[in-house]
Formats: sequence, C-alpha cells, structure tokens
Amino acid sequence: MSPSGTPPAREVASLCGVSSRPGAVRGVPSGTPGEIDYRLARAARLAEFRSGNLTVLDVCDAQPELLRNAERASKPTRRRCPVCTKRNLVIVTYVFGPRLPPSGRCITAPGELTELSRRRGEHAAYEVEVCKGCRWNHLVRTYLLQVS
Ligand SMILES: [Zn+2]
Repeated sequence: MSPSGTPPAREVASLCGVSSRPGAVRGVPSGTPGEIDYRLARAARLAEFRSGNLTVLDVCDAQPELLRNAERASKPTRRRCPVCTKRNLVIVTYVFGPRLPPSGRCITAPGELTELSRRRGEHAAYEVEVCKGCRWNHLVRTYLLQVS
C-alpha cells in the first residue's frame, strides 16, 4: 500500500466492522500491483473460531451499517458462509480517497468504480464479504483503482 492518503487496513477494518481486535487484519500483496489479499488473515480467524478461541459473537459482528450496505449495495457470490453454511456471501465495496467521507464511500452502482478511478488522486477499494444470515464479515482484498 502506498503511504500517501491510503488509510491503514486496521483503521478501515474497524470502520467496516471487519474486526474489533487490533492487529487481527493482516494482508499479503498479491500479483496485482497495489492489491493486498486477506485470505490468510481470514483463514486464521476461521481457524481460531473453529478451535474455540473465538465465539460466534466474536466473528459474526457485522455492524448495522455494514449489514444495511449488504442488503442494498452488494454483489452476490457463490461462496457459502464459512460460519453458518446456510447462505451465500455477498461482497460490499468501500472506496477511500480524496474528498470521500472518512468512513469511505460504499459502492452502490456498477459504474461508480470507473467514475472514481478517473478522479484525481489515489483511490483504494476495500472489499468486505458479509453473510446476511449470521453476520460473519471479513476484509477480502484491497486494491488501488486504476484508470482503464
Ligand atoms: Zn453465515
């Protein structure tokens, strides 16, 4: 992640309700420049849950705003929720950058990412997976918006 203007993942994570534990969200750079993949952090969190170190209340803690965004502005996936295994996960995307709210802008329309990528300054997208059933949520990946 570039140091210029991109909020640290932990800060964003707490804004998104991804995790309430400091340091819980760690990511590794993926093949794409500016992209960080959080699958390892997700797997670690699920392992802690399965081993009994974390309860359902710890891992299924999506905040009301994140759940609202999951209802009105999310992308469906074919992946089952790893916690309740009853519903498919949805992806909620937030963008952070100049002249956007400190808590990020939730993407509600398909063309919005393209429009934001054309703006001046660096914009970073944060994808959060959410289960609308049990409220499991986790940061999946972050990436910089590129002008296409
Ligand atoms: Zn679930």
